[in-house]
Amino acid sequence: MKLKRITFILAMSIATTALAQDKPKKPLGYQNTPIIPGTKWHVHDGERPQPKIVTPGEPSTQEKAGTAPSDAVVLFDGKDLSKWKHGNGKDAQWKVENGYAEVAGGDIMTKDEFGPDVQLHLEFATPPAKGDGQGRGNSGCFFFGRYEIQILDSFDNPTYPDGQATAIYGQMPPLVNASLPPQKWQQYDIVFEGPRFNEDGTVAKPAVVTVLHNGVVTQNRTVLIGNTPHQQVGKYQKHGEKGPVRLQDHGNPMRFRNMWIRELKPVDSQ
Ligand code: MG
Repeated sequence: MKLKRITFILAMSIATTALAQDKPKKPLGYQNTPIIPGTKWHVHDGERPQPKIVTPGEPSTQEKAGTAPSDAVVLFDGKDLSKWKHGNGKDAQWKVENGYAEVAGGDIMTKDEFGPDVQLHLEFATPPAKGDGQGRGNSGCFFFGRYEIQILDSFDNPTYPDGQATAIYGQMPPLVNASLPPQKWQQYDIVFEGPRFNEDGTVAKPAVVTVLHNGVVTQNRTVLIGNTPHQQVGKYQKHGEKGPVRLQDHGNPMRFRNMWIRELKPVDSQ
């Protein structure tokens, strides 16, 4: 009796599977439409690769750091600086406590390299207001170790515009000043398109950057003229398609939390 029932269940499941296989798959799109110029895909092509599924992270609040999207490389989640090293290659000296890392003992840079196009999220809090201008709450986030997006306490703290928070240092002031007061957690979301170089070292495509400061766009696909030195016009020097992210120690006890990065690849090449 028992065997009979099992045989029956088995037969039914085989029949169901066969039925599912016989049923023609509903096309997702069209193959009889024109080709989209510059691609091999038809308009509404159902065969085009599907974007992969990413689970968004939890948003941050002032009290609590959020989390990274499921496909991000977590650079710092409040626990340790194992993804970072000192700018000189030795261990990072920054102090980690209470879920944040505090600037101490020199720049830090990622052990891994990223590029050419990335999305980076970081959060920082500047110390209680002390000093002014570039001397107050100064740090910086460098892509490829050399292109600085300025981090500064720009809340009621005048300084040269191309040195304010989210300025491309020495090149382009932010569109607006979206700074929060000292000690508040602030967020940067940066899309950095790395430069491309020709064989001979000339620039094939300059770097381009978009920045959101606390959710407000402050750089809108700004084209970089080169690196970001102090008191000089930046210039390009050929480098690889990937590079480290560097965070600056400018002598102020800045705090960082919830840092992650994603490499951006077109859907057709993932
Ligand atoms: Mg700086």
